[in-house]
Amino acid sequence: MLNRESTGLIRHFFRAYPRRSALIIGLLILSGFSEGIGIVTLLPLLEVAVEESGSDAGDSQIMTVATDVLGRVGLEPTLGVLLGLVVAGMLLKGVFHWFAFRQVGYTVANVATDLRLMLIRALLQAGWGYFLSQRAGHLSNAIGNEAHRASNAYSNACSLMAGIIHVLVYFTIAVLVSPSVALVAVVAGGLIILLFNGMVAMTREAGQQQTILIKSLSARLIDALQALKPIKAMAQEAQLQPILEAETRELNEAQRRQVVASSTMAAFKEPLVVGILALGLFLVLTLTGVPFSGLLVMAFLFHRLVGKINSLQSTYSSIAVSESAFWSLRRSMELAEAERENIGEGLPAPSLERGISLRDVRFGYGDTDVLRGVTLDLPAGSFAAIVGPSGAGKTTLVDLVIGLYRPREGEIYIDDVPLGEIDMIEWRRGIGYVPQEMLLFHDSIYQNVTLGDLAIDHARAEEALRKAGAWEFVGRLPAGIDTVIGERGAKLSGGQRQRIAIARALVRQPKLLILDEVTTALDPATEAEICETLGELRGEVTVIAISHQPAITRVADRVYRIDEGLLLPVEPETVYAGAVRS
Ligand code: ADP
Repeated sequence: MLNRESTGLIRHFFRAYPRRSALIIGLLILSGFSEGIGIVTLLPLLEVAVEESGSDAGDSQIMTVATDVLGRVGLEPTLGVLLGLVVAGMLLKGVFHWFAFRQVGYTVANVATDLRLMLIRALLQAGWGYFLSQRAGHLSNAIGNEAHRASNAYSNACSLMAGIIHVLVYFTIAVLVSPSVALVAVVAGGLIILLFNGMVAMTREAGQQQTILIKSLSARLIDALQALKPIKAMAQEAQLQPILEAETRELNEAQRRQVVASSTMAAFKEPLVVGILALGLFLVLTLTGVPFSGLLVMAFLFHRLVGKINSLQSTYSSIAVSESAFWSLRRSMELAEAERENIGEGLPAPSLERGISLRDVRFGYGDTDVLRGVTLDLPAGSFAAIVGPSGAGKTTLVDLVIGLYRPREGEIYIDDVPLGEIDMIEWRRGIGYVPQEMLLFHDSIYQNVTLGDLAIDHARAEEALRKAGAWEFVGRLPAGIDTVIGERGAKLSGGQRQRIAIARALVRQPKLLILDEVTTALDPATEAEICETLGELRGEVTVIAISHQPAITRVADRVYRIDEGLLLPVEPETVYAGAVRS
């Protein structure tokens, strides 16, 4: 009945939390044992009650077992002692159970938190290539929904342990009282489990479908939200809506199947057990001369044992529903870990005093080469503009300098040290990067400039905004630098967003400033102003600017063109003519 995925999940949890799990199992055993005491003392009471109501007497097996057990601890099986033991046993059971499930509760919260932290760490340490292959929605779903469902699986695994312990307790008592009842109950319980096995398979399948659908739905939704402006502007909601709705409905269907399967199990098992019991009682009473008083106790034990065996299946089916969420999250984590970036921890930190050199660098994606044998020398403090047609490999070239990718051939040197032999984090801390798409957050301008770095105060942020030519409009805003700029900076114009993105790069006082088509969205006057400001950085910072715009190539002290995978130096005036032509 247990499949490899479920056992793997249970094993994972018990290995990840060995001490907590051992404590929980210990408490559950104590709880089961206490229940056992309660039941062993309850049985003779039941028998006495039936005898007093008129059935025939006789020293039964149950009485012998109870007397024997009590005798061993020096107690007489009087009514008072028996009643006291029933109450004490059940009370103790409750107390141990409560302690056990309090621990389960704590651990469930830990499970979700630990899974989230492990995934977050794996994500942040993964190389750039990993993020290109991932959908943002999948990852946010793994952190939110899948971690939550996976932690539920832990809670269900503990309930399964509790169930197994209960079955063992009842089985032991049943064997002591009547081995044949124990055997019949186990066979009947097993048959009922087989009968409902299809329902467990159905809940598992419904769980897997939910995992896939929620993952896909969140990915689609996040993609759509990121591109909402063109969707709204071109009234494409009508294209998107049916897809999102269809998946939501499928999700509804999967959830319905899961509920139907588990409620079918819950609804029909009990009548089935009682039916088998009634049939058994009828056969025994009519075909044999066994007294009713003895039978009642047997019936009680049979009912409880079969019931407990069957509840194992229900608990297991709850694990089956959540297990796919756990494995999906695990896969995301393993993928991220497999793509862990080699950051050269402990290697020397570059200071970029002499310059950056590329020697015969070859690089591409998949089977195609984007750059073939690129050689370039950029002295520290120089301002280089890189131009070329769209898709030529300009962004790829700077990505290689940043260390987001490693060259297939050749090497990049920072002050004559190969990039593969330096501390990558230190190197990147010295880089100011302004991407083509300005990614601003729904937060204040100050936070957008500092990216949450508390070491940067308002004065430093203001200075960077001034350098980027942004202070003119920021200073005029009612809340100034603390103005919240809306989702992805939607409350600002393209040019204003760009200047904030430049300020974000400058505030770090970088050694290398990388500008990827930064002036494309600006009007000529603003572009000229910004280029002038950027030109002032010459000699102070090493700048690599990717651009088609003539203004930037004019302030650059060297210009290169990438074409057909090769990089060649060009005269700025030629670029200007070329840019106008393209
Ligand atoms: P540019 O910045 O000059 O416009 P890019 O460096 O962005 O050009 O891209 C160069 C080529 O590499 C393009 O053909 C582009 O489609 C391809 N490319 C860029 N990034 C990837 C990637 N992550 N996977 C596969 N191909 C890519």
